[in-house]
Amino acid sequence: MPGFELFGDLERKQVNDVLDNGVLMRYGFDGMRKGHWKAKELESELQNAFQSKHVQLVSSGTAAVSVALAAAGVGAGDEVIMPTFTFVASFEAIMMLGAIPVLVDVDDTLCLNPEAVEKAITPKTKGIMVVQMCGSMGDMDALRDVAKKHNVLLIEDACQAIGGTYKGKPLGSIGDLGCFSFDFVKTITCGEGGAVITNNKEYYTNADHYSDHGHDHVGHDRGAETHPFLGYNFRISELHAAVGLAQVKRLPEFLAIQKKNFNILREALTEIPEVTFRKVPEGGQESCAFLNFFLPDVETAQNVSKAFKENGIDVCWNYYNNNWHYVREWHHLKDAKSLYPLTKEIKGELANLKTKDFSQSDYYISRNISCLIKMSWTEEEVLARANKMVESIKSCI
Ligand SMILES: *Cc1c(COP(=O)(O)O)cnc(C)c1O
Repeated sequence: MPGFELFGDLERKQVNDVLDNGVLMRYGFDGMRKGHWKAKELESELQNAFQSKHVQLVSSGTAAVSVALAAAGVGAGDEVIMPTFTFVASFEAIMMLGAIPVLVDVDDTLCLNPEAVEKAITPKTKGIMVVQMCGSMGDMDALRDVAKKHNVLLIEDACQAIGGTYKGKPLGSIGDLGCFSFDFVKTITCGEGGAVITNNKEYYTNADHYSDHGHDHVGHDRGAETHPFLGYNFRISELHAAVGLAQVKRLPEFLAIQKKNFNILREALTEIPEVTFRKVPEGGQESCAFLNFFLPDVETAQNVSKAFKENGIDVCWNYYNNNWHYVREWHHLKDAKSLYPLTKEIKGELANLKTKDFSQSDYYISRNISCLIKMSWTEEEVLARANKMVESIKSCI
């Protein structure tokens, strides 16, 4: 997955354009820029790549989720449904707005279970945030039906699934708003960066203003612009956008390499009957950033994980006891260890997490192994890795 693996002259050239004119900021300074608008150019490349009418670049994927929610009016006291298996950024972004994260089970897609989502809907629910984990997706038709039926937003966090599709549509472009991260380890990197995509003009305008202190971006004099509503600073810099601009042009190449490596490993594992693969909903195409599979039980999964480590197979994880990606070890969240006071409603929901039943999530996450697909591997290395993975798994069953 990481775009940094294939870093080179194209990235350097884009960054040098910015260094040459010295305008490191994405807005203003029209006369000094010598025609370089890297953030604007990257936004228009992303419109094409993600088949979306509007794109707002921001400073990170976490900022993208917060900005997306804020742009759609989610705030204090509103409930947002999110999965137990994701990155900590999901609840961080929700809580930053004073909204309440409501954690819900995942299923064999490793994403939100639509039935569990429907059960968690209350009069306070404002949005459903599906996180397209590890290169694939939840059952988007079913999730969209639940969102429609209850008249709530559907937000897609596609940070880990850049380039995946569902029924021909890029992941991120299916919900009301989609969010991407371009941090250092994502498929396209800006160093740090993120994007909100939407077909809704009003959400886009809100995101544009909100991520830049409320600036309305009318005219060519920043100091004279008005502020129709409150905002913050989640801007991306021109330097970061320049890196992303070089990377996005290489996205088709990156995806082709990922897919090739993914297919070799997946093919090798199909010869082991005890191995089953994550469910990809009908009509879905994974981005192939990760290969995810299940072992029959927890013990075997942990043994395979150990055998992988002993045999030098890196970048494969069992997330059950992971500090950053699964609810079990999010003690700072469950104990509400905040530097500043949280609202009573948020504290109440966090306290619930200590006793909430996530056995369905446990059932899938405890047996899952998730392997990052690198782009810098040679074919020889992938074939050797495939053999070693098969041997290691067979030694555990
Ligand atoms: C990386 C990631 C984020 C956060 O992105 P940052 O740019 O690191 O803030 C959010 N959600 C998921 C699923 C991610 O993988």
